[in-house]
Amino acid sequence: DNGAHVPALVIGTGYGGSVAALRLAQAGVDVHMIEMGMAWDTPGSDGKIFCNTTTPDYRAYWLRTKTKAPLSNFLGFPIDKAVPRYTGILDAEEMGGIIVYQGRGVGGGSLVNGGMAVTPKRANFGAVLPTVNADEMYDTYYPRANAGLGVSLIDPAWFESVDCYQFSRVGRKHAQRAGFPFVFVPDVYDWDYMKQEAAGTVPKSAVAGEILYGNNAGKKSLQQTYIAQAKATGKVTISPLHKVTSVSPASGGGYTVVIDQINTTGDTVGTKTVVADKVFFAAGSVGTSKLLVRLKATGALPNLNNEIGKGWGDNGNVMCGRANHMWDATGKVQASIPCGGIDNWDAGGAFAEVAPLPTGIETYASFYLSITKNPNRAEFSYNASTGGVELNWQTAWKAPSIAMAKTIFDKINSKEGTIYRTDLFGTNKIWGDHLTYHPLGGAVLDKATDNYGRLHGYTGLYVIDGALIPGNTSVNPFVTITALAERNIEKIIATDM
Ligand code: FAD
Repeated sequence: DNGAHVPALVIGTGYGGSVAALRLAQAGVDVHMIEMGMAWDTPGSDGKIFCNTTTPDYRAYWLRTKTKAPLSNFLGFPIDKAVPRYTGILDAEEMGGIIVYQGRGVGGGSLVNGGMAVTPKRANFGAVLPTVNADEMYDTYYPRANAGLGVSLIDPAWFESVDCYQFSRVGRKHAQRAGFPFVFVPDVYDWDYMKQEAAGTVPKSAVAGEILYGNNAGKKSLQQTYIAQAKATGKVTISPLHKVTSVSPASGGGYTVVIDQINTTGDTVGTKTVVADKVFFAAGSVGTSKLLVRLKATGALPNLNNEIGKGWGDNGNVMCGRANHMWDATGKVQASIPCGGIDNWDAGGAFAEVAPLPTGIETYASFYLSITKNPNRAEFSYNASTGGVELNWQTAWKAPSIAMAKTIFDKINSKEGTIYRTDLFGTNKIWGDHLTYHPLGGAVLDKATDNYGRLHGYTGLYVIDGALIPGNTSVNPFVTITALAERNIEKIIATDM
């Protein structure tokens, strides 16, 4: 409420924010979470909370009037269509040289993502978070994060037989014939539920292609895990459709937080001011970076250091499709949850997820999201004339990612006698090099903050989300974001609360 004084305020309800809220509440601290997106707990007129990937409606996009699907074209036809402007679930945020996809709502990215829950290989961890003790992470915090998120593996026997993973088995065959290891990728999807979907005994979600705009069943998003536990403590309050616009030192100690209340068309309908003793920035890599860069530049938090806004990367994301021969059909029905990847990280700098193309028709296409060791890092800066925060990433900076992905797919194509699809990202365009699903960095650990996320320059301000991670995690990022948040909040509760 306007004028309230709260002990701990958390900006954002994604992975970092949910971990912070749960652990603070368990330690006896009252927590208020502020989330600009919707609660996503009420069905629409069709009885469903979320819309399907193939039929995006008002619920699909964050304040856009036209959809912006990651795959823009199919067989020569543009896919995007008009939708009413609404505080929908997926934000396709255009940052100049890159579109950054993000989840909006209580649960953040967990609402829209594929649920792939991957712990980096131990040998690669030193490059991911060089100042963090790897023993502690692998002995304590990665296991804690995996347990808290409900991570598990597909039943390998079921994988071999079920129609909806034919695309993945074809992906495995091609990988292995070209000499690459195929690895199963853990997920937070409830695999027993998916078995029942495939058997036709429960309402279908993954098997009906739900992904990107939310899953109506089966996926354990943060709403079912950390946030449910946090609410059960009775010490956590969540305010959806509220957006933090300012944080600055309060005269009597603590921080004054200014919050806009918005409606479902994105208009501000009220402004509230509260004072918080501690503020946790968990607005995601882009959200946290944009806030901090603006607050530093405009004088609200002038003592933040010069590392603010730096060290941003795209986790090397690049997408492509391959056209298979007619004997390598990938299946009309494809589960929207990927379950396998091709590991060429050490030799070629690429880890490629075998991804579904849940179109409902046979496409004879194999589709991949590669995570690559792209070394390029961008920086956020404040534009005083527009009042906006910009990111200087350039599309050409994906060139190293394409070269790394080609170490896998050129070899597969030459072995199979196949070619790349050129119709998925435009006309005559092979590479989906215009986007990322995995924004990371902007307030890097041990640079903008100390080694536990305490922002330099201000006591009681913390970063606890993907902004801490310097641009790459070698695999999908949310398990690492969660595990790092578990590590940091434990230290903060022990020493600062
Ligand atoms: P987020 O989860 O982004 O949460 C930040 C929250 O803060 C959001 O809810 C946002 O609305 C809110 N917010 C922002 N600004 C404000 C403000 N000013 N005031 C109030 N609230 C604010 N990762 C994986 O590991 N595996 C996958 O399979 C995977 N698939 C993905 C698929 C898609 C389509 C997308 C978009 C992402 C995917 N990711 C995946 C990435 C993963 O979801 C993110 O890395 C993760 O969600 C980031 O966590 P976070 O805590 O940093 O922030």
